[in-house]
Amino acid sequence: MSQNRAYDWIEKSLSTIEKAGWYRQVKTINSPPGAMIEIEGRSLINFASNDYLGLAADQHLKQAAIEAINYYGTGSTGSRLLSGHRQLHHDLEGAIAQLKKTEDALVFSSGYLANLGTITALVGVRDLILADEYNHSSLKKGAVLTGGKVINYKHCDLADLEQKLSANRASYRRCLIITDTVFSMDGDICPLPEILHLGETYEAMTLVDEAHATGVMGKEGGGCVEYFNCTDRAPIQMGTLSKALGSLGGYVAASSTLIDFLRNRAPSWIYTTALSPAATAAALEATKIIHEQPQRRQNLWNHINFLKEALSDHSLLPSHSPILCLGLDNPQQAVKLSQHLQANGIFAPAIRPPTVPFSRIRFSLMATHQPEHIEQLVAVLKNVNRG
Ligand SMILES: *Cc1c(COP(=O)(O)O)cnc(C)c1O
Repeated sequence: MSQNRAYDWIEKSLSTIEKAGWYRQVKTINSPPGAMIEIEGRSLINFASNDYLGLAADQHLKQAAIEAINYYGTGSTGSRLLSGHRQLHHDLEGAIAQLKKTEDALVFSSGYLANLGTITALVGVRDLILADEYNHSSLKKGAVLTGGKVINYKHCDLADLEQKLSANRASYRRCLIITDTVFSMDGDICPLPEILHLGETYEAMTLVDEAHATGVMGKEGGGCVEYFNCTDRAPIQMGTLSKALGSLGGYVAASSTLIDFLRNRAPSWIYTTALSPAATAAALEATKIIHEQPQRRQNLWNHINFLKEALSDHSLLPSHSPILCLGLDNPQQAVKLSQHLQANGIFAPAIRPPTVPFSRIRFSLMATHQPEHIEQLVAVLKNVNRG
């Protein structure tokens, strides 16, 4: 009997991952999304959700999705350019352009695909990408896929970015700067006006990833670009429909010329099935709520300010978002603390290498948390410190 040993490396590789304390597994949640969730038969306060405005189980979003399914069915049956385009997509893209104050927008099947498609459309082998070292995986993989030169600059370090632009820009045709605005595993924000200024100085395009900023940052929920008042400085804005918007999918918002170009050149938009009617309708409903219910954003920021203040004597990483992280020395410590929190009724994940350079517990807040939820988190953490 022949035995193919070609796959043996996988088991070895897995055990290396396990030994490093990097092994990861899914957890089954047996309840609707919300401030409280059920895991393994226990009710826990949820600090692990990207559903910042509490819209993923909102009645209005559910109703919009149900109506879309009743009329359009469950599948969109084809790519947007063939048989997949519906009025719903058109309406959602209009609503996103309005939220982001851009000429046009384009929705993708996920934020990950929006980044892959946009970056590969804009950059080729003769071009240069400058990327924050803490960027999201989708920006990193998108950059690699272009075949262009990719140079990382130190996290939010403008001097390093400028030095790398000045040393390298002239050797390449086009240049693209890519950065998260709210960093997904840290919660801090990029110095956007200064980055845009460097882009203007060195004739570089700038793509900002507003995945965790959309609906959260800015008075009207337009993201960090609104927060920093940079709307008219033409950054390319991408984001997701799957976090504060409570649905699934991604978007790019930019000038109509750029969006038109993406419709013709972004492979992850052209060659994939259009966003489903249910996801599209739910996201469209979310854009209306973001506009009509600023109170949700206000509640969220009240929670953020309260928790930051209450944990000011803990080792919190710098943050300006609903993402607050407690830094820890090693992955084992992070896992242990996460388990301790869970035993005390709190669900918050340990985030470990290789996702981040050093381990942490990541708390994300929601508009729909009650003050008691956050007070309980503070109480449990204070006890750990004493113990
Ligand atoms: C979640 C996330 C994405 C991907 O969005 P999905 O819609 O979940 O694919 C992209 N960028 C950042 C910074 C994210 O946090």
